[in-house]
Amino acid sequence: MATVPERPLVMKFGGTSVGSPTAMAQAVDIVRGEAPRWPGVVVVTSALAGTTDALLRAARAAAQGDAAAVRQARQQLEEAHWAVAQALVPASDRAEVWAGVQKHLETLENLGRAMTVLGEATPRGLDAVAALGERMSVLLLTAALRAQGVDAEALDATEVLVTDANFGAAHPDLDASRQRVHRRLAPRLRPGRVVVVPGFIAATPDGIVTTLGRGGSDYSAALLAALLPAAEVWIWTDVDGVMSADPRLVPQAHTIPVLSYREVAELAYFGAKVLHPKTIRPVVEADIPLRVRNTFHPRGPSTLIVREREVTPGQIKAITLIRDLSMVIVEGRGMLGVPGVAARTFAAVAGTGTSVLLISQASSEQSICFIVPGRTQGKVVSALEEAFAAEIARRDIDRVRALEGVVIVTLVGEGMRHTPGIAGRVFGALGAQGINVIAIAQGASEVAISLVVSEADARRALHALHPLTEN
Ligand code: ADP
Ligand code: ASP
Ligand code: MG
Repeated sequence: MATVPERPLVMKFGGTSVGSPTAMAQAVDIVRGEAPRWPGVVVVTSALAGTTDALLRAARAAAQGDAAAVRQARQQLEEAHWAVAQALVPASDRAEVWAGVQKHLETLENLGRAMTVLGEATPRGLDAVAALGERMSVLLLTAALRAQGVDAEALDATEVLVTDANFGAAHPDLDASRQRVHRRLAPRLRPGRVVVVPGFIAATPDGIVTTLGRGGSDYSAALLAALLPAAEVWIWTDVDGVMSADPRLVPQAHTIPVLSYREVAELAYFGAKVLHPKTIRPVVEADIPLRVRNTFHPRGPSTLIVREREVTPGQIKAITLIRDLSMVIVEGRGMLGVPGVAARTFAAVAGTGTSVLLISQASSEQSICFIVPGRTQGKVVSALEEAFAAEIARRDIDRVRALEGVVIVTLVGEGMRHTPGIAGRVFGALGAQGINVIAIAQGASEVAISLVVSEADARRALHALHPLTEN
């Protein structure tokens, strides 16, 4: 007889996995198949694909005085949600479920009107609007599961996940959240039972809705898994697990069967959208295995992410790309040996609220260069010019300049550590295509090597380097 695991399972379905009647039907099938095999299943759901974008766009337009945008968004969302309700929610429950969806759409109109009157959309207001997407999808998914005989109930994430008030990218309070998870979520779990929770959203201790950042449903699932704790977390998405490159950019990309937490953390940080970068930390600390699987190909290849694994020396597992970046360069002969230039540089950048993605310094100490999101370039350069006004006047610093339109290409693999010759292979592959490397950086972990190249070379660089993952 198959043994039932001792701990529950947490599964998360992404926007595409619940974005149409066929997709949600598939998700329901997957949950129905798993539910009897666990002592409880928590299903974390994203909003229907495109919903969060539509909500935020409407809110921003409303704040600009475009009241019609909200009505249009409402209509578009109504159509998408109605298609799912009609296909998957039985007529007997549909009126009640639809009333719930309408209540959220009503809230959208009310918040939109308030934003038009105020002429602004505050981060708090935007979170209230963005949260509506997951709240609507939970209603549909719970009803669709029940319709297929699954013992499902909904629980709002604002009941269990407590965060600070950093709207748009709130930080969880783990102790407070754990208490609530144990009080409000764990007691509902039992064999065959499914609790459906909206991803992405949480609340402050006072109950004001927050969000965890775009793509944050993965993070919600990881947090709930760590707090319960769960046996495993499965992330159901629209590709066959974590792949050697974004399959939209590199069609030859293959699924990576096993990855370490460190490898996947680097991948996520350096742009592999398949997992939100914050997802890894809670599950590493609780040592919970994470699987990434394809909703549309549930028996196909998938990725298992675990703590330890055998390392194949020299192996490069994956390549990622981050676009729309700028390189900022602080340079001058007078910087040579002057202590504190780096500290002052990064203090000035931090003062603008910009996060630096990569740093490299030439050994001559005559320049510091670093990479920031392209849209922050202007304010970063101004802040540095102000911070170093005296040095610039004295010509100790020649200038602060920015190079627009660069990308970071990152190669990831634990096997690169202590393996000589990796850099040679990388530069060889790029050199053969005549691709110029503007800067290079390797983290102390040696699990990743990042290269800065021009936006114009981005695709060619990916294609030139991808064969290195096939060893
Ligand atoms: P979800 O809505 O399920 O969270 P996302 O769109 O956030 O899905 O993430 C899945 C997408 O991530 C894929 O469709 C793929 O285009 C992209 N992606 C980027 N890098 C990778 C990679 N290395 N492996 C797999 N998918 C990747
Ligand atoms: N719906 C949210 C977003 O689009 C969260 C998520 O899908 O993970 O960002
Ligand atoms: Mg995602």
